[in-house]
Amino acid sequence: MSVNGNNLDRWYSHYAERTAGLTASEVRALFAVASRPEVVSLAGGMPFVSALPPELVTSAMERTMMNRGGVALQYGSGQGVPLLREQILDVMALEGISASVDDVVVTTGSQHALELVAKLFLDPGDVVIAEGPSYVTALVVFRSFQAEVSHVAMDEQGMIPQALRETIANLKAAGRRMKFLYTIPSFQNPAGVTLSWTRRMEILEIARENDILVVEDNPYGLLYFDSPPPHAMRSVDQDGVIYLGTFSKTLAPGLRVGWAVAPHAIREKLVLANEAAVLSPSSFTQLVISEYLSSADWRGQIDIFRGVYQERRDAMLSALQEHLPKLSWTVPTGGFYVWLTLPNYLDSKSMLPRAVKELVAYTPGTAFYADGGGRCNMRLSFCYPSPDFIREGIRRLATVINGELEL
Ligand code: PMP
Repeated sequence: MSVNGNNLDRWYSHYAERTAGLTASEVRALFAVASRPEVVSLAGGMPFVSALPPELVTSAMERTMMNRGGVALQYGSGQGVPLLREQILDVMALEGISASVDDVVVTTGSQHALELVAKLFLDPGDVVIAEGPSYVTALVVFRSFQAEVSHVAMDEQGMIPQALRETIANLKAAGRRMKFLYTIPSFQNPAGVTLSWTRRMEILEIARENDILVVEDNPYGLLYFDSPPPHAMRSVDQDGVIYLGTFSKTLAPGLRVGWAVAPHAIREKLVLANEAAVLSPSSFTQLVISEYLSSADWRGQIDIFRGVYQERRDAMLSALQEHLPKLSWTVPTGGFYVWLTLPNYLDSKSMLPRAVKELVAYTPGTAFYADGGGRCNMRLSFCYPSPDFIREGIRRLATVINGELEL
């Protein structure tokens, strides 16, 4: 059977059916355009790694090679380096989580943890419940296991518990198998909103009542601007939550180190799946991170990142207020993203070529929905361009949008 009907690909009839979900995301297609230097890209979600002094990494690398070179260059444990797993406990303690070293499974970025969780739980036709909108590459993973995503609406306080109840009731009535609830509670990608503590508790309760596992993805929680977000959901539920963390935003994504903390039985399966996929995560980068955490002021470095992103968030919000006062947008209190809403007669995807002509790029809202939603939304990232570029980018964007607004 032809799954990927691409006549240029001689092997398309050989692909597994699940690869039908592996289509290039809108974000990916944008990278080529947006990386031209004259374009202000508000599209990607790349951390501003230049705020990390390179010598901190170089010296951690050198010490790793001098002191533990033989281990760093060797295969390691499928669960991850024990010392790093202990240090990860200190990182998670900042968000109220207490776990044991045995609970932590190191992965090749949290993206890989998502893939492993999906592999463990999803059969074709299963349903994953996720916020609407949700993280684009998580949607790609779920689709690649032939699962369907059911979105739950959000407001400024994150996922709406009543909407979740209704979604679950509808799926139950339709006889669907719900495997897990995927959520990004703090500084959500792409909406930028944060789930309140009361809602965290309510959503955990709903999940418990309905026997649904919660997958809590938390790459941005430590990147808050004024005050920390509520504690992680995992801090109060050890049995019903798989927690995903990463060093990508608090250190550097190029090191490709993230982790999962799972209920005990799941943790064993995760390690087996990790071994099947990569044998062991990179010993070298794990040890470099471990050395960095032992010797550098990593908390101070996170403060530096927070300062950088807060300045950029402020630049974006004030430019939006100045140039697009008639529109509405979310006000993130941490993380990387603002979610902009256009009047409903505008389509952010069809507007994109005009924006690129004006030398500004963004990600159309439809990228973040599995069901075609988000047509009149866009995600604006403030993580990478300088504040001046952000202001100029929003000015250019406003030229395009204002040209389309009905008077
Ligand atoms: N989850 C979310 C919500 C993300 O935004 C990202 C990165 N953009 C990831 C997971 C993956 O991060 P990494 O694999 O670098 O840890």
